[in-house]
Amino acid sequence: MQKLKEFGKHKAVFAYRIDTDFFHPEHVKKTLDVAEKHGIKMTWFASMSTGQYHKKDILRIAETQDAQNHAFEHETYQEEEKNFQNIMKADKMLKEWGIECSGFAAPFGKWNIGLAKALEKTGYLYSSEFREGRNVFPFFPMLGEKKAKVLQVPVHPVSFGNLLESGYSVQESMDYFDKIIDLLYTEQVPIFLYCHPAGRLGKYPQVLDRIFAKVKELDDVWFTNLTEYAEFWKEKGFGEKKTNFESHFAFFEKRDSLLRRAILFHRGQILRVAMKKIKRRFHK
Ligand SMILES: [Zn+2]
Repeated sequence: MQKLKEFGKHKAVFAYRIDTDFFHPEHVKKTLDVAEKHGIKMTWFASMSTGQYHKKDILRIAETQDAQNHAFEHETYQEEEKNFQNIMKADKMLKEWGIECSGFAAPFGKWNIGLAKALEKTGYLYSSEFREGRNVFPFFPMLGEKKAKVLQVPVHPVSFGNLLESGYSVQESMDYFDKIIDLLYTEQVPIFLYCHPAGRLGKYPQVLDRIFAKVKELDDVWFTNLTEYAEFWKEKGFGEKKTNFESHFAFFEKRDSLLRRAILFHRGQILRVAMKKIKRRFHK
């Protein structure tokens, strides 16, 4: 297997993205513990509508991890100005805590022109939302006629949370990541994964532990984070690197029988109640 310049002259590159949508201190702590045990610096996008009440925890994360911006309200709008205000509100709050952001992940992964235009105004280096066709490596999305200045850094679109919601057990999810990591490694595309701590990684920390252990078994992997990788990509001035790798959803089966959908609906209700409880317990 060859070493790629896009991988900093390694055979592979790995980064893990965390979105803290609902700040759940216990689950955040458990997720952080796994990263620190493995000595891995992940990129954490903090949603600040709940994050604002957890200054101590976020500063603790920033001690060993890369903390970035997941907006104030967990919402992505169509309008440029609304997005801009929402991004900058979180940016300002984090800056006051001594955290300078250059990366953004849009709530719900919803990229649109109104968001892209807002991002141009922030001066941010990159955002992480989506893949476009054969763009699995970072790329500059089209903004009308011209290319955006803000780099897009895609991640593998299936998270542990998606698997749970699709009826996978914890063990089946771990098997899924074993397989997908092998595939991304063999195809030589970035092994960039993401998930959430609340009710997922923090509840089942063995999944993240397994993912890290699995990647460590591979030969010659560059362990980085999204911000460092975006800086590297921009500094090297790489052009688009399209790949033939189109099986984004390889191994992923949607199990949506009628029964499945009934269970999902039920779980959705449970999740909603759980989120309300978390909000009452930990915030305000
Ligand atoms: Zn989110």
